[in-house]
This record gives sequence, C-alpha cells and structure tokens, in this order.
Amino acid sequence: MVRFTVLASGSKGNSTVISGGRTRILVDAGLSCRELFRRMKLAGEDPETLDAILITHEHQDHVNGLCVTARKLGIPVYFTEATHRAWMRWLTPRRQMTYAEWLEQRRRQAAERQAGWQAEAGAAAEEGDFDEPEAGMAPESAARPLTEPSAEAAPDQPASLTDDPTWLPEVEYFQAGQPFSIGDIGVSPFTTPHDAADPVGFVFRAEGVRIGYATDLGYTPPNVKAQLKELDLLLLESNHDLEMLRDGPYPWAVKQRVLSRVGHLSNEAAAEFLTEDYDGHAAYVILAHLSENNNLPELARLTAERALSGRASLVANRLLLAAQHEPLAAIEF
Ligand SMILES: [Zn+2]
Ligand SMILES: [Zn+2]
Repeated sequence: MVRFTVLASGSKGNSTVISGGRTRILVDAGLSCRELFRRMKLAGEDPETLDAILITHEHQDHVNGLCVTARKLGIPVYFTEATHRAWMRWLTPRRQMTYAEWLEQRRRQAAERQAGWQAEAGAAAEEGDFDEPEAGMAPESAARPLTEPSAEAAPDQPASLTDDPTWLPEVEYFQAGQPFSIGDIGVSPFTTPHDAADPVGFVFRAEGVRIGYATDLGYTPPNVKAQLKELDLLLLESNHDLEMLRDGPYPWAVKQRVLSRVGHLSNEAAAEFLTEDYDGHAAYVILAHLSENNNLPELARLTAERALSGRASLVANRLLLAAQHEPLAAIEF
C-alpha cells in the first residue's frame, strides 16, 4: 500500500510522509522534532519506522527540525549538494571570525570527526572545502533556525559531534534530473524556480503509483509541467491570492519577492496550470503551502475548483487542502 500524509504545509513548516513497499520517507522536516513526532502519531504513522529524510531546499520552513529528527532516528538525509552546503553555511555561526578562520575551524572539526567517529556514517559529512558564504539571504531564510536543545541529541555520541550544529548521521546527495531510489520508493527530483540554492520538487513512484510534489515555485516552467503528468496524486502550491497579497500587510520588498519568478505560486497561477497544462489524471489534487496572511482556504479551493470544473474530463479529481496546524488525513492507494 502507498500512503501519503501531509503533516504540515505553509510558511511555518512543511513535512509530509510517503510510504510505499517497505520504505517510509519524510519529505522536509519543517516542524520541530517533537511536533513532527506528535503529528505523525496523530496521523497513525510511527516515527521510528522512517527510513530517510528528503529535503527540497534549505529554507527554514523546510528544515527547522531536521538536525534533531535525523539524529534522534539515526537516518540518512538526502539533499542536493548545493542545498546541503547552503544549509551548513546557514547553521554555522561565523560572524566573529574571518572566512579563513571559519574554514580552518571546519577542517579541524572534520578531522576530529574522523578521529572520533570511525563508522562510515560520518563520511558524507566530512566535506573539506566550502564555498564563499553568500552575500545575502532571502527573507524566508534570513533568520537563523530555532535550533533545538542539543541535549536532545543522542547521548552516546562523542561531544565533538553533538557540538557541531550541522552534524548529521548520514548525508546522501542527489541531483535534479537524475532519478534515484530510496528503498522501494523511486524519486525523480526536478528543479523548481525559487530563491534558494538548488530547490527541487519531486515525483515519487511506488507500487505503480505516481505522486507529484511541487511547492515553493515562482511559476511553472516547462520542465515542471513535463514532470507533473500521469500522476495519481498531485500536491501543488497555491500560496496566495494576488489581490490579497497586493493589499495585504507585507512590506513592499517581501511582496515583490513572493510575486517574483522565484517566489511562490499564486492561486491564479495554480489555476492556470490546472486549466492549461494539467492532464487531469490524478485521483487527488492537494493545494499546499497556503499563506496565512495572503490567502483564504475557501478562496484557494474556489479558484482551483473553477479551473478544474471547466474541464468535463476531470470529474475524478478530488480536491483537498493541506493545512498548517494539523495533518491532512492519510491518502492511501
Ligand atoms: Zn522556500
Ligand atoms: Zn516554503
């Protein structure tokens, strides 16, 4: 059986569990570990059975609970290399030191890890060379994440590991455009237009079921449209209502960012995709990453319903809304 459970969706945290065959993956870890576990239990999912965490991009609402969750469960985290590096840069405090000093500190920490951690698990985290830190960051990622108490880390790890805020039990890299598998689940990552280092969406395949996952994208370029075909379930961003955003409380610069080609998909843009490009194949369409300030669930639903109802062939599509504060009931195939 394939199961798809959205635990949370929106600018305060994103996380979804996908299981197929004997494999269970957490897509993004945007809630605290405690809250993730609470919601998983609420949704009938056992956190202990997760096999891996897969990250779309390094913005806070997608990685907030990543470290604590990965460490607690001792499971691998899958990133693109650029996303992993951006995430590490973001987590490593370096304001007081020069870049050279910071680099030296990273090398020293890597050496300590090598000495203190013989298991192969540490290998992927021991990258020696780092890019120059980025000059600026997007508003969504400007704040440092609320790191959770290090006491939550497994007590039997050497101190040097738990002191390093970027340490993960195991890191695996993937590349957009290159499908791979995690256990019984096939994963096809594709590039999305968004203001992060190397953001991706996914198509998952398990037991003959295809699931599309596309949030945090400024628009739907041809490569995204090409991926979101012949799906059994489509999770698509429907972030804001254009009018509400324009008239809403956000400062001008933030409005510009959300509206930009590397911002977020509006209700109207999602509707346009559903009308113009969507093949109508999915049994379920889930609208996701709804803004709490610049959208209303009824408005997002109405806009998408209108787009779908214009096409008589789409009667099988069930439209659902992912929420920020509670899990969506699991969808099973
Ligand atoms: Zn984002
Ligand atoms: Zn986001």
